[in-house]
Amino acid sequence: MNIVMIKIENLSNPKEFWHYFIEISKIPRCSGNEQRIREYIKQESENLGFKTEIDKVGNLIVSIPSKSENTIPLIIQSHLDMVCEKNENIMHDFSVDPLKLREIKIDGERWITAEGTSLGADNGVGLANSLALMKKISSKELEFDNLDFTIVFTVNEEEGLFGAFQIENDILKKEYLINLDCMSDETFVIGCVGGFYTIVDIKLERIELAEINKDLIPVKIYIKGLAGGHSGLDINKGRGNAIKILAKILYKLNKEFEIYIDVIKGGDNFNAIPRESWATLFLNESKEKLTQYLDELELQINKRLETFNDNLEIIIEDLDKSQLSNKIIEPKLQQRILSTLYLLPHGPILIHPKLDNFLHSSTNFAIINTKTSRIKIQYLHRSFDKQISSEVTEKIKALLHLGGLKSKVKPAGGYGIWDPDFTSKLLKTSIKCYTELNCEEPKIRAMHAGLECGVFADKCPELEMITMGPNVEACHSPDERLQVKSVEKFWKIFISVLKELSKIKN
Ligand SMILES: [Zn+2]
Repeated sequence: MNIVMIKIENLSNPKEFWHYFIEISKIPRCSGNEQRIREYIKQESENLGFKTEIDKVGNLIVSIPSKSENTIPLIIQSHLDMVCEKNENIMHDFSVDPLKLREIKIDGERWITAEGTSLGADNGVGLANSLALMKKISSKELEFDNLDFTIVFTVNEEEGLFGAFQIENDILKKEYLINLDCMSDETFVIGCVGGFYTIVDIKLERIELAEINKDLIPVKIYIKGLAGGHSGLDINKGRGNAIKILAKILYKLNKEFEIYIDVIKGGDNFNAIPRESWATLFLNESKEKLTQYLDELELQINKRLETFNDNLEIIIEDLDKSQLSNKIIEPKLQQRILSTLYLLPHGPILIHPKLDNFLHSSTNFAIINTKTSRIKIQYLHRSFDKQISSEVTEKIKALLHLGGLKSKVKPAGGYGIWDPDFTSKLLKTSIKCYTELNCEEPKIRAMHAGLECGVFADKCPELEMITMGPNVEACHSPDERLQVKSVEKFWKIFISVLKELSKIKN
């Protein structure tokens, strides 16, 4: 790989974009630490002659009022924070050190990257495009007389859309919103699924281990080695869920051997497909027989997982009796629990009828935890239809009932659906501009994950929104890179859309 220092004059147009992209790369802005970048953009906006405002959670809002009577209110939005990731062998303090920008070539293509760290092109490209736009409006190089701009910079997108959730509804009461947090210059994103949480509580009854009156061996069974991944973006990839695999193994063991379970545990994050899980139990059989049985089962499961580029490892660990509780789950109840866990849903539910190869609804069996008197399970469903998520919750309830388990199932809140609107003026205008400039149609996509626009859609259903931006790859990693020529391609699309919008008569 050929690495060179970057010079603005060698980069693509507009130069204002690169000037700002390089400037903001000098300013630390990990999620939760947006003060300095916010101050820089605020100062710059005021120097350019625009009014600024900071809301109660730190979102920055810049106003560029329209000069005409026929005003079209429009929001340009991006997020201030970046994911700070670095390579192990690099000395870099994200709270003070500037990023070290470099140009690299991959297959002859020019990209900007940061040496050993994430680049923050997610969402530095949004900040730099907004600043470049303001600069060109201020210098009168660009004029959009009818557009009444509100430029919004949100805080802490990466750790849970915090700034978007807290933004005041009044700020969003505009006609259009262009979000600049898309990573592909040939794609417009026009929707995202909502997320809905469900909490399940199963009541346990335990008996004294001494009641079994047999010579039992205590063991721990670990499920490891799985790829996991994002519980939305990767849920359609067929990868193993460590909790579901453990449930299947325990269900089979319970039929094949005499087992007495103490604890079942797995997963630690709603947002991730569980990669690891374990159970502690007593076994009325030799460890050799268990090992032989699980080795065969591991082979069998891996044969299927292989097709989906995933791999499982089952590890058996010897335990001391003192490491387990001396009360085990009542055996008949155990059987019902294992059957129910084996049946509980996980994975894709429905394909979107209008978006190619796109998942409409899914569910992630995210976390399971065992306490003395109960098992707690946590789910995250994603869907374009709240009713489907409610049905999944209802089905979970029905299954637990069928299993004869004393349990509580309750929905635990959620966040916004951004339902694709194929008739939106903003979308039609964007497609027209893209097609004229590039002699081909753009790709229209939605995301099977939460976006800031989803939160905005909840707060202001009337707002027409679209997400667009230049090509950025390997976000959130030290390989993150921004394609040089894509900056210019995107800028032309962006400005052309704004010009076209400013012509729309209300
Ligand atoms: Zn982003």
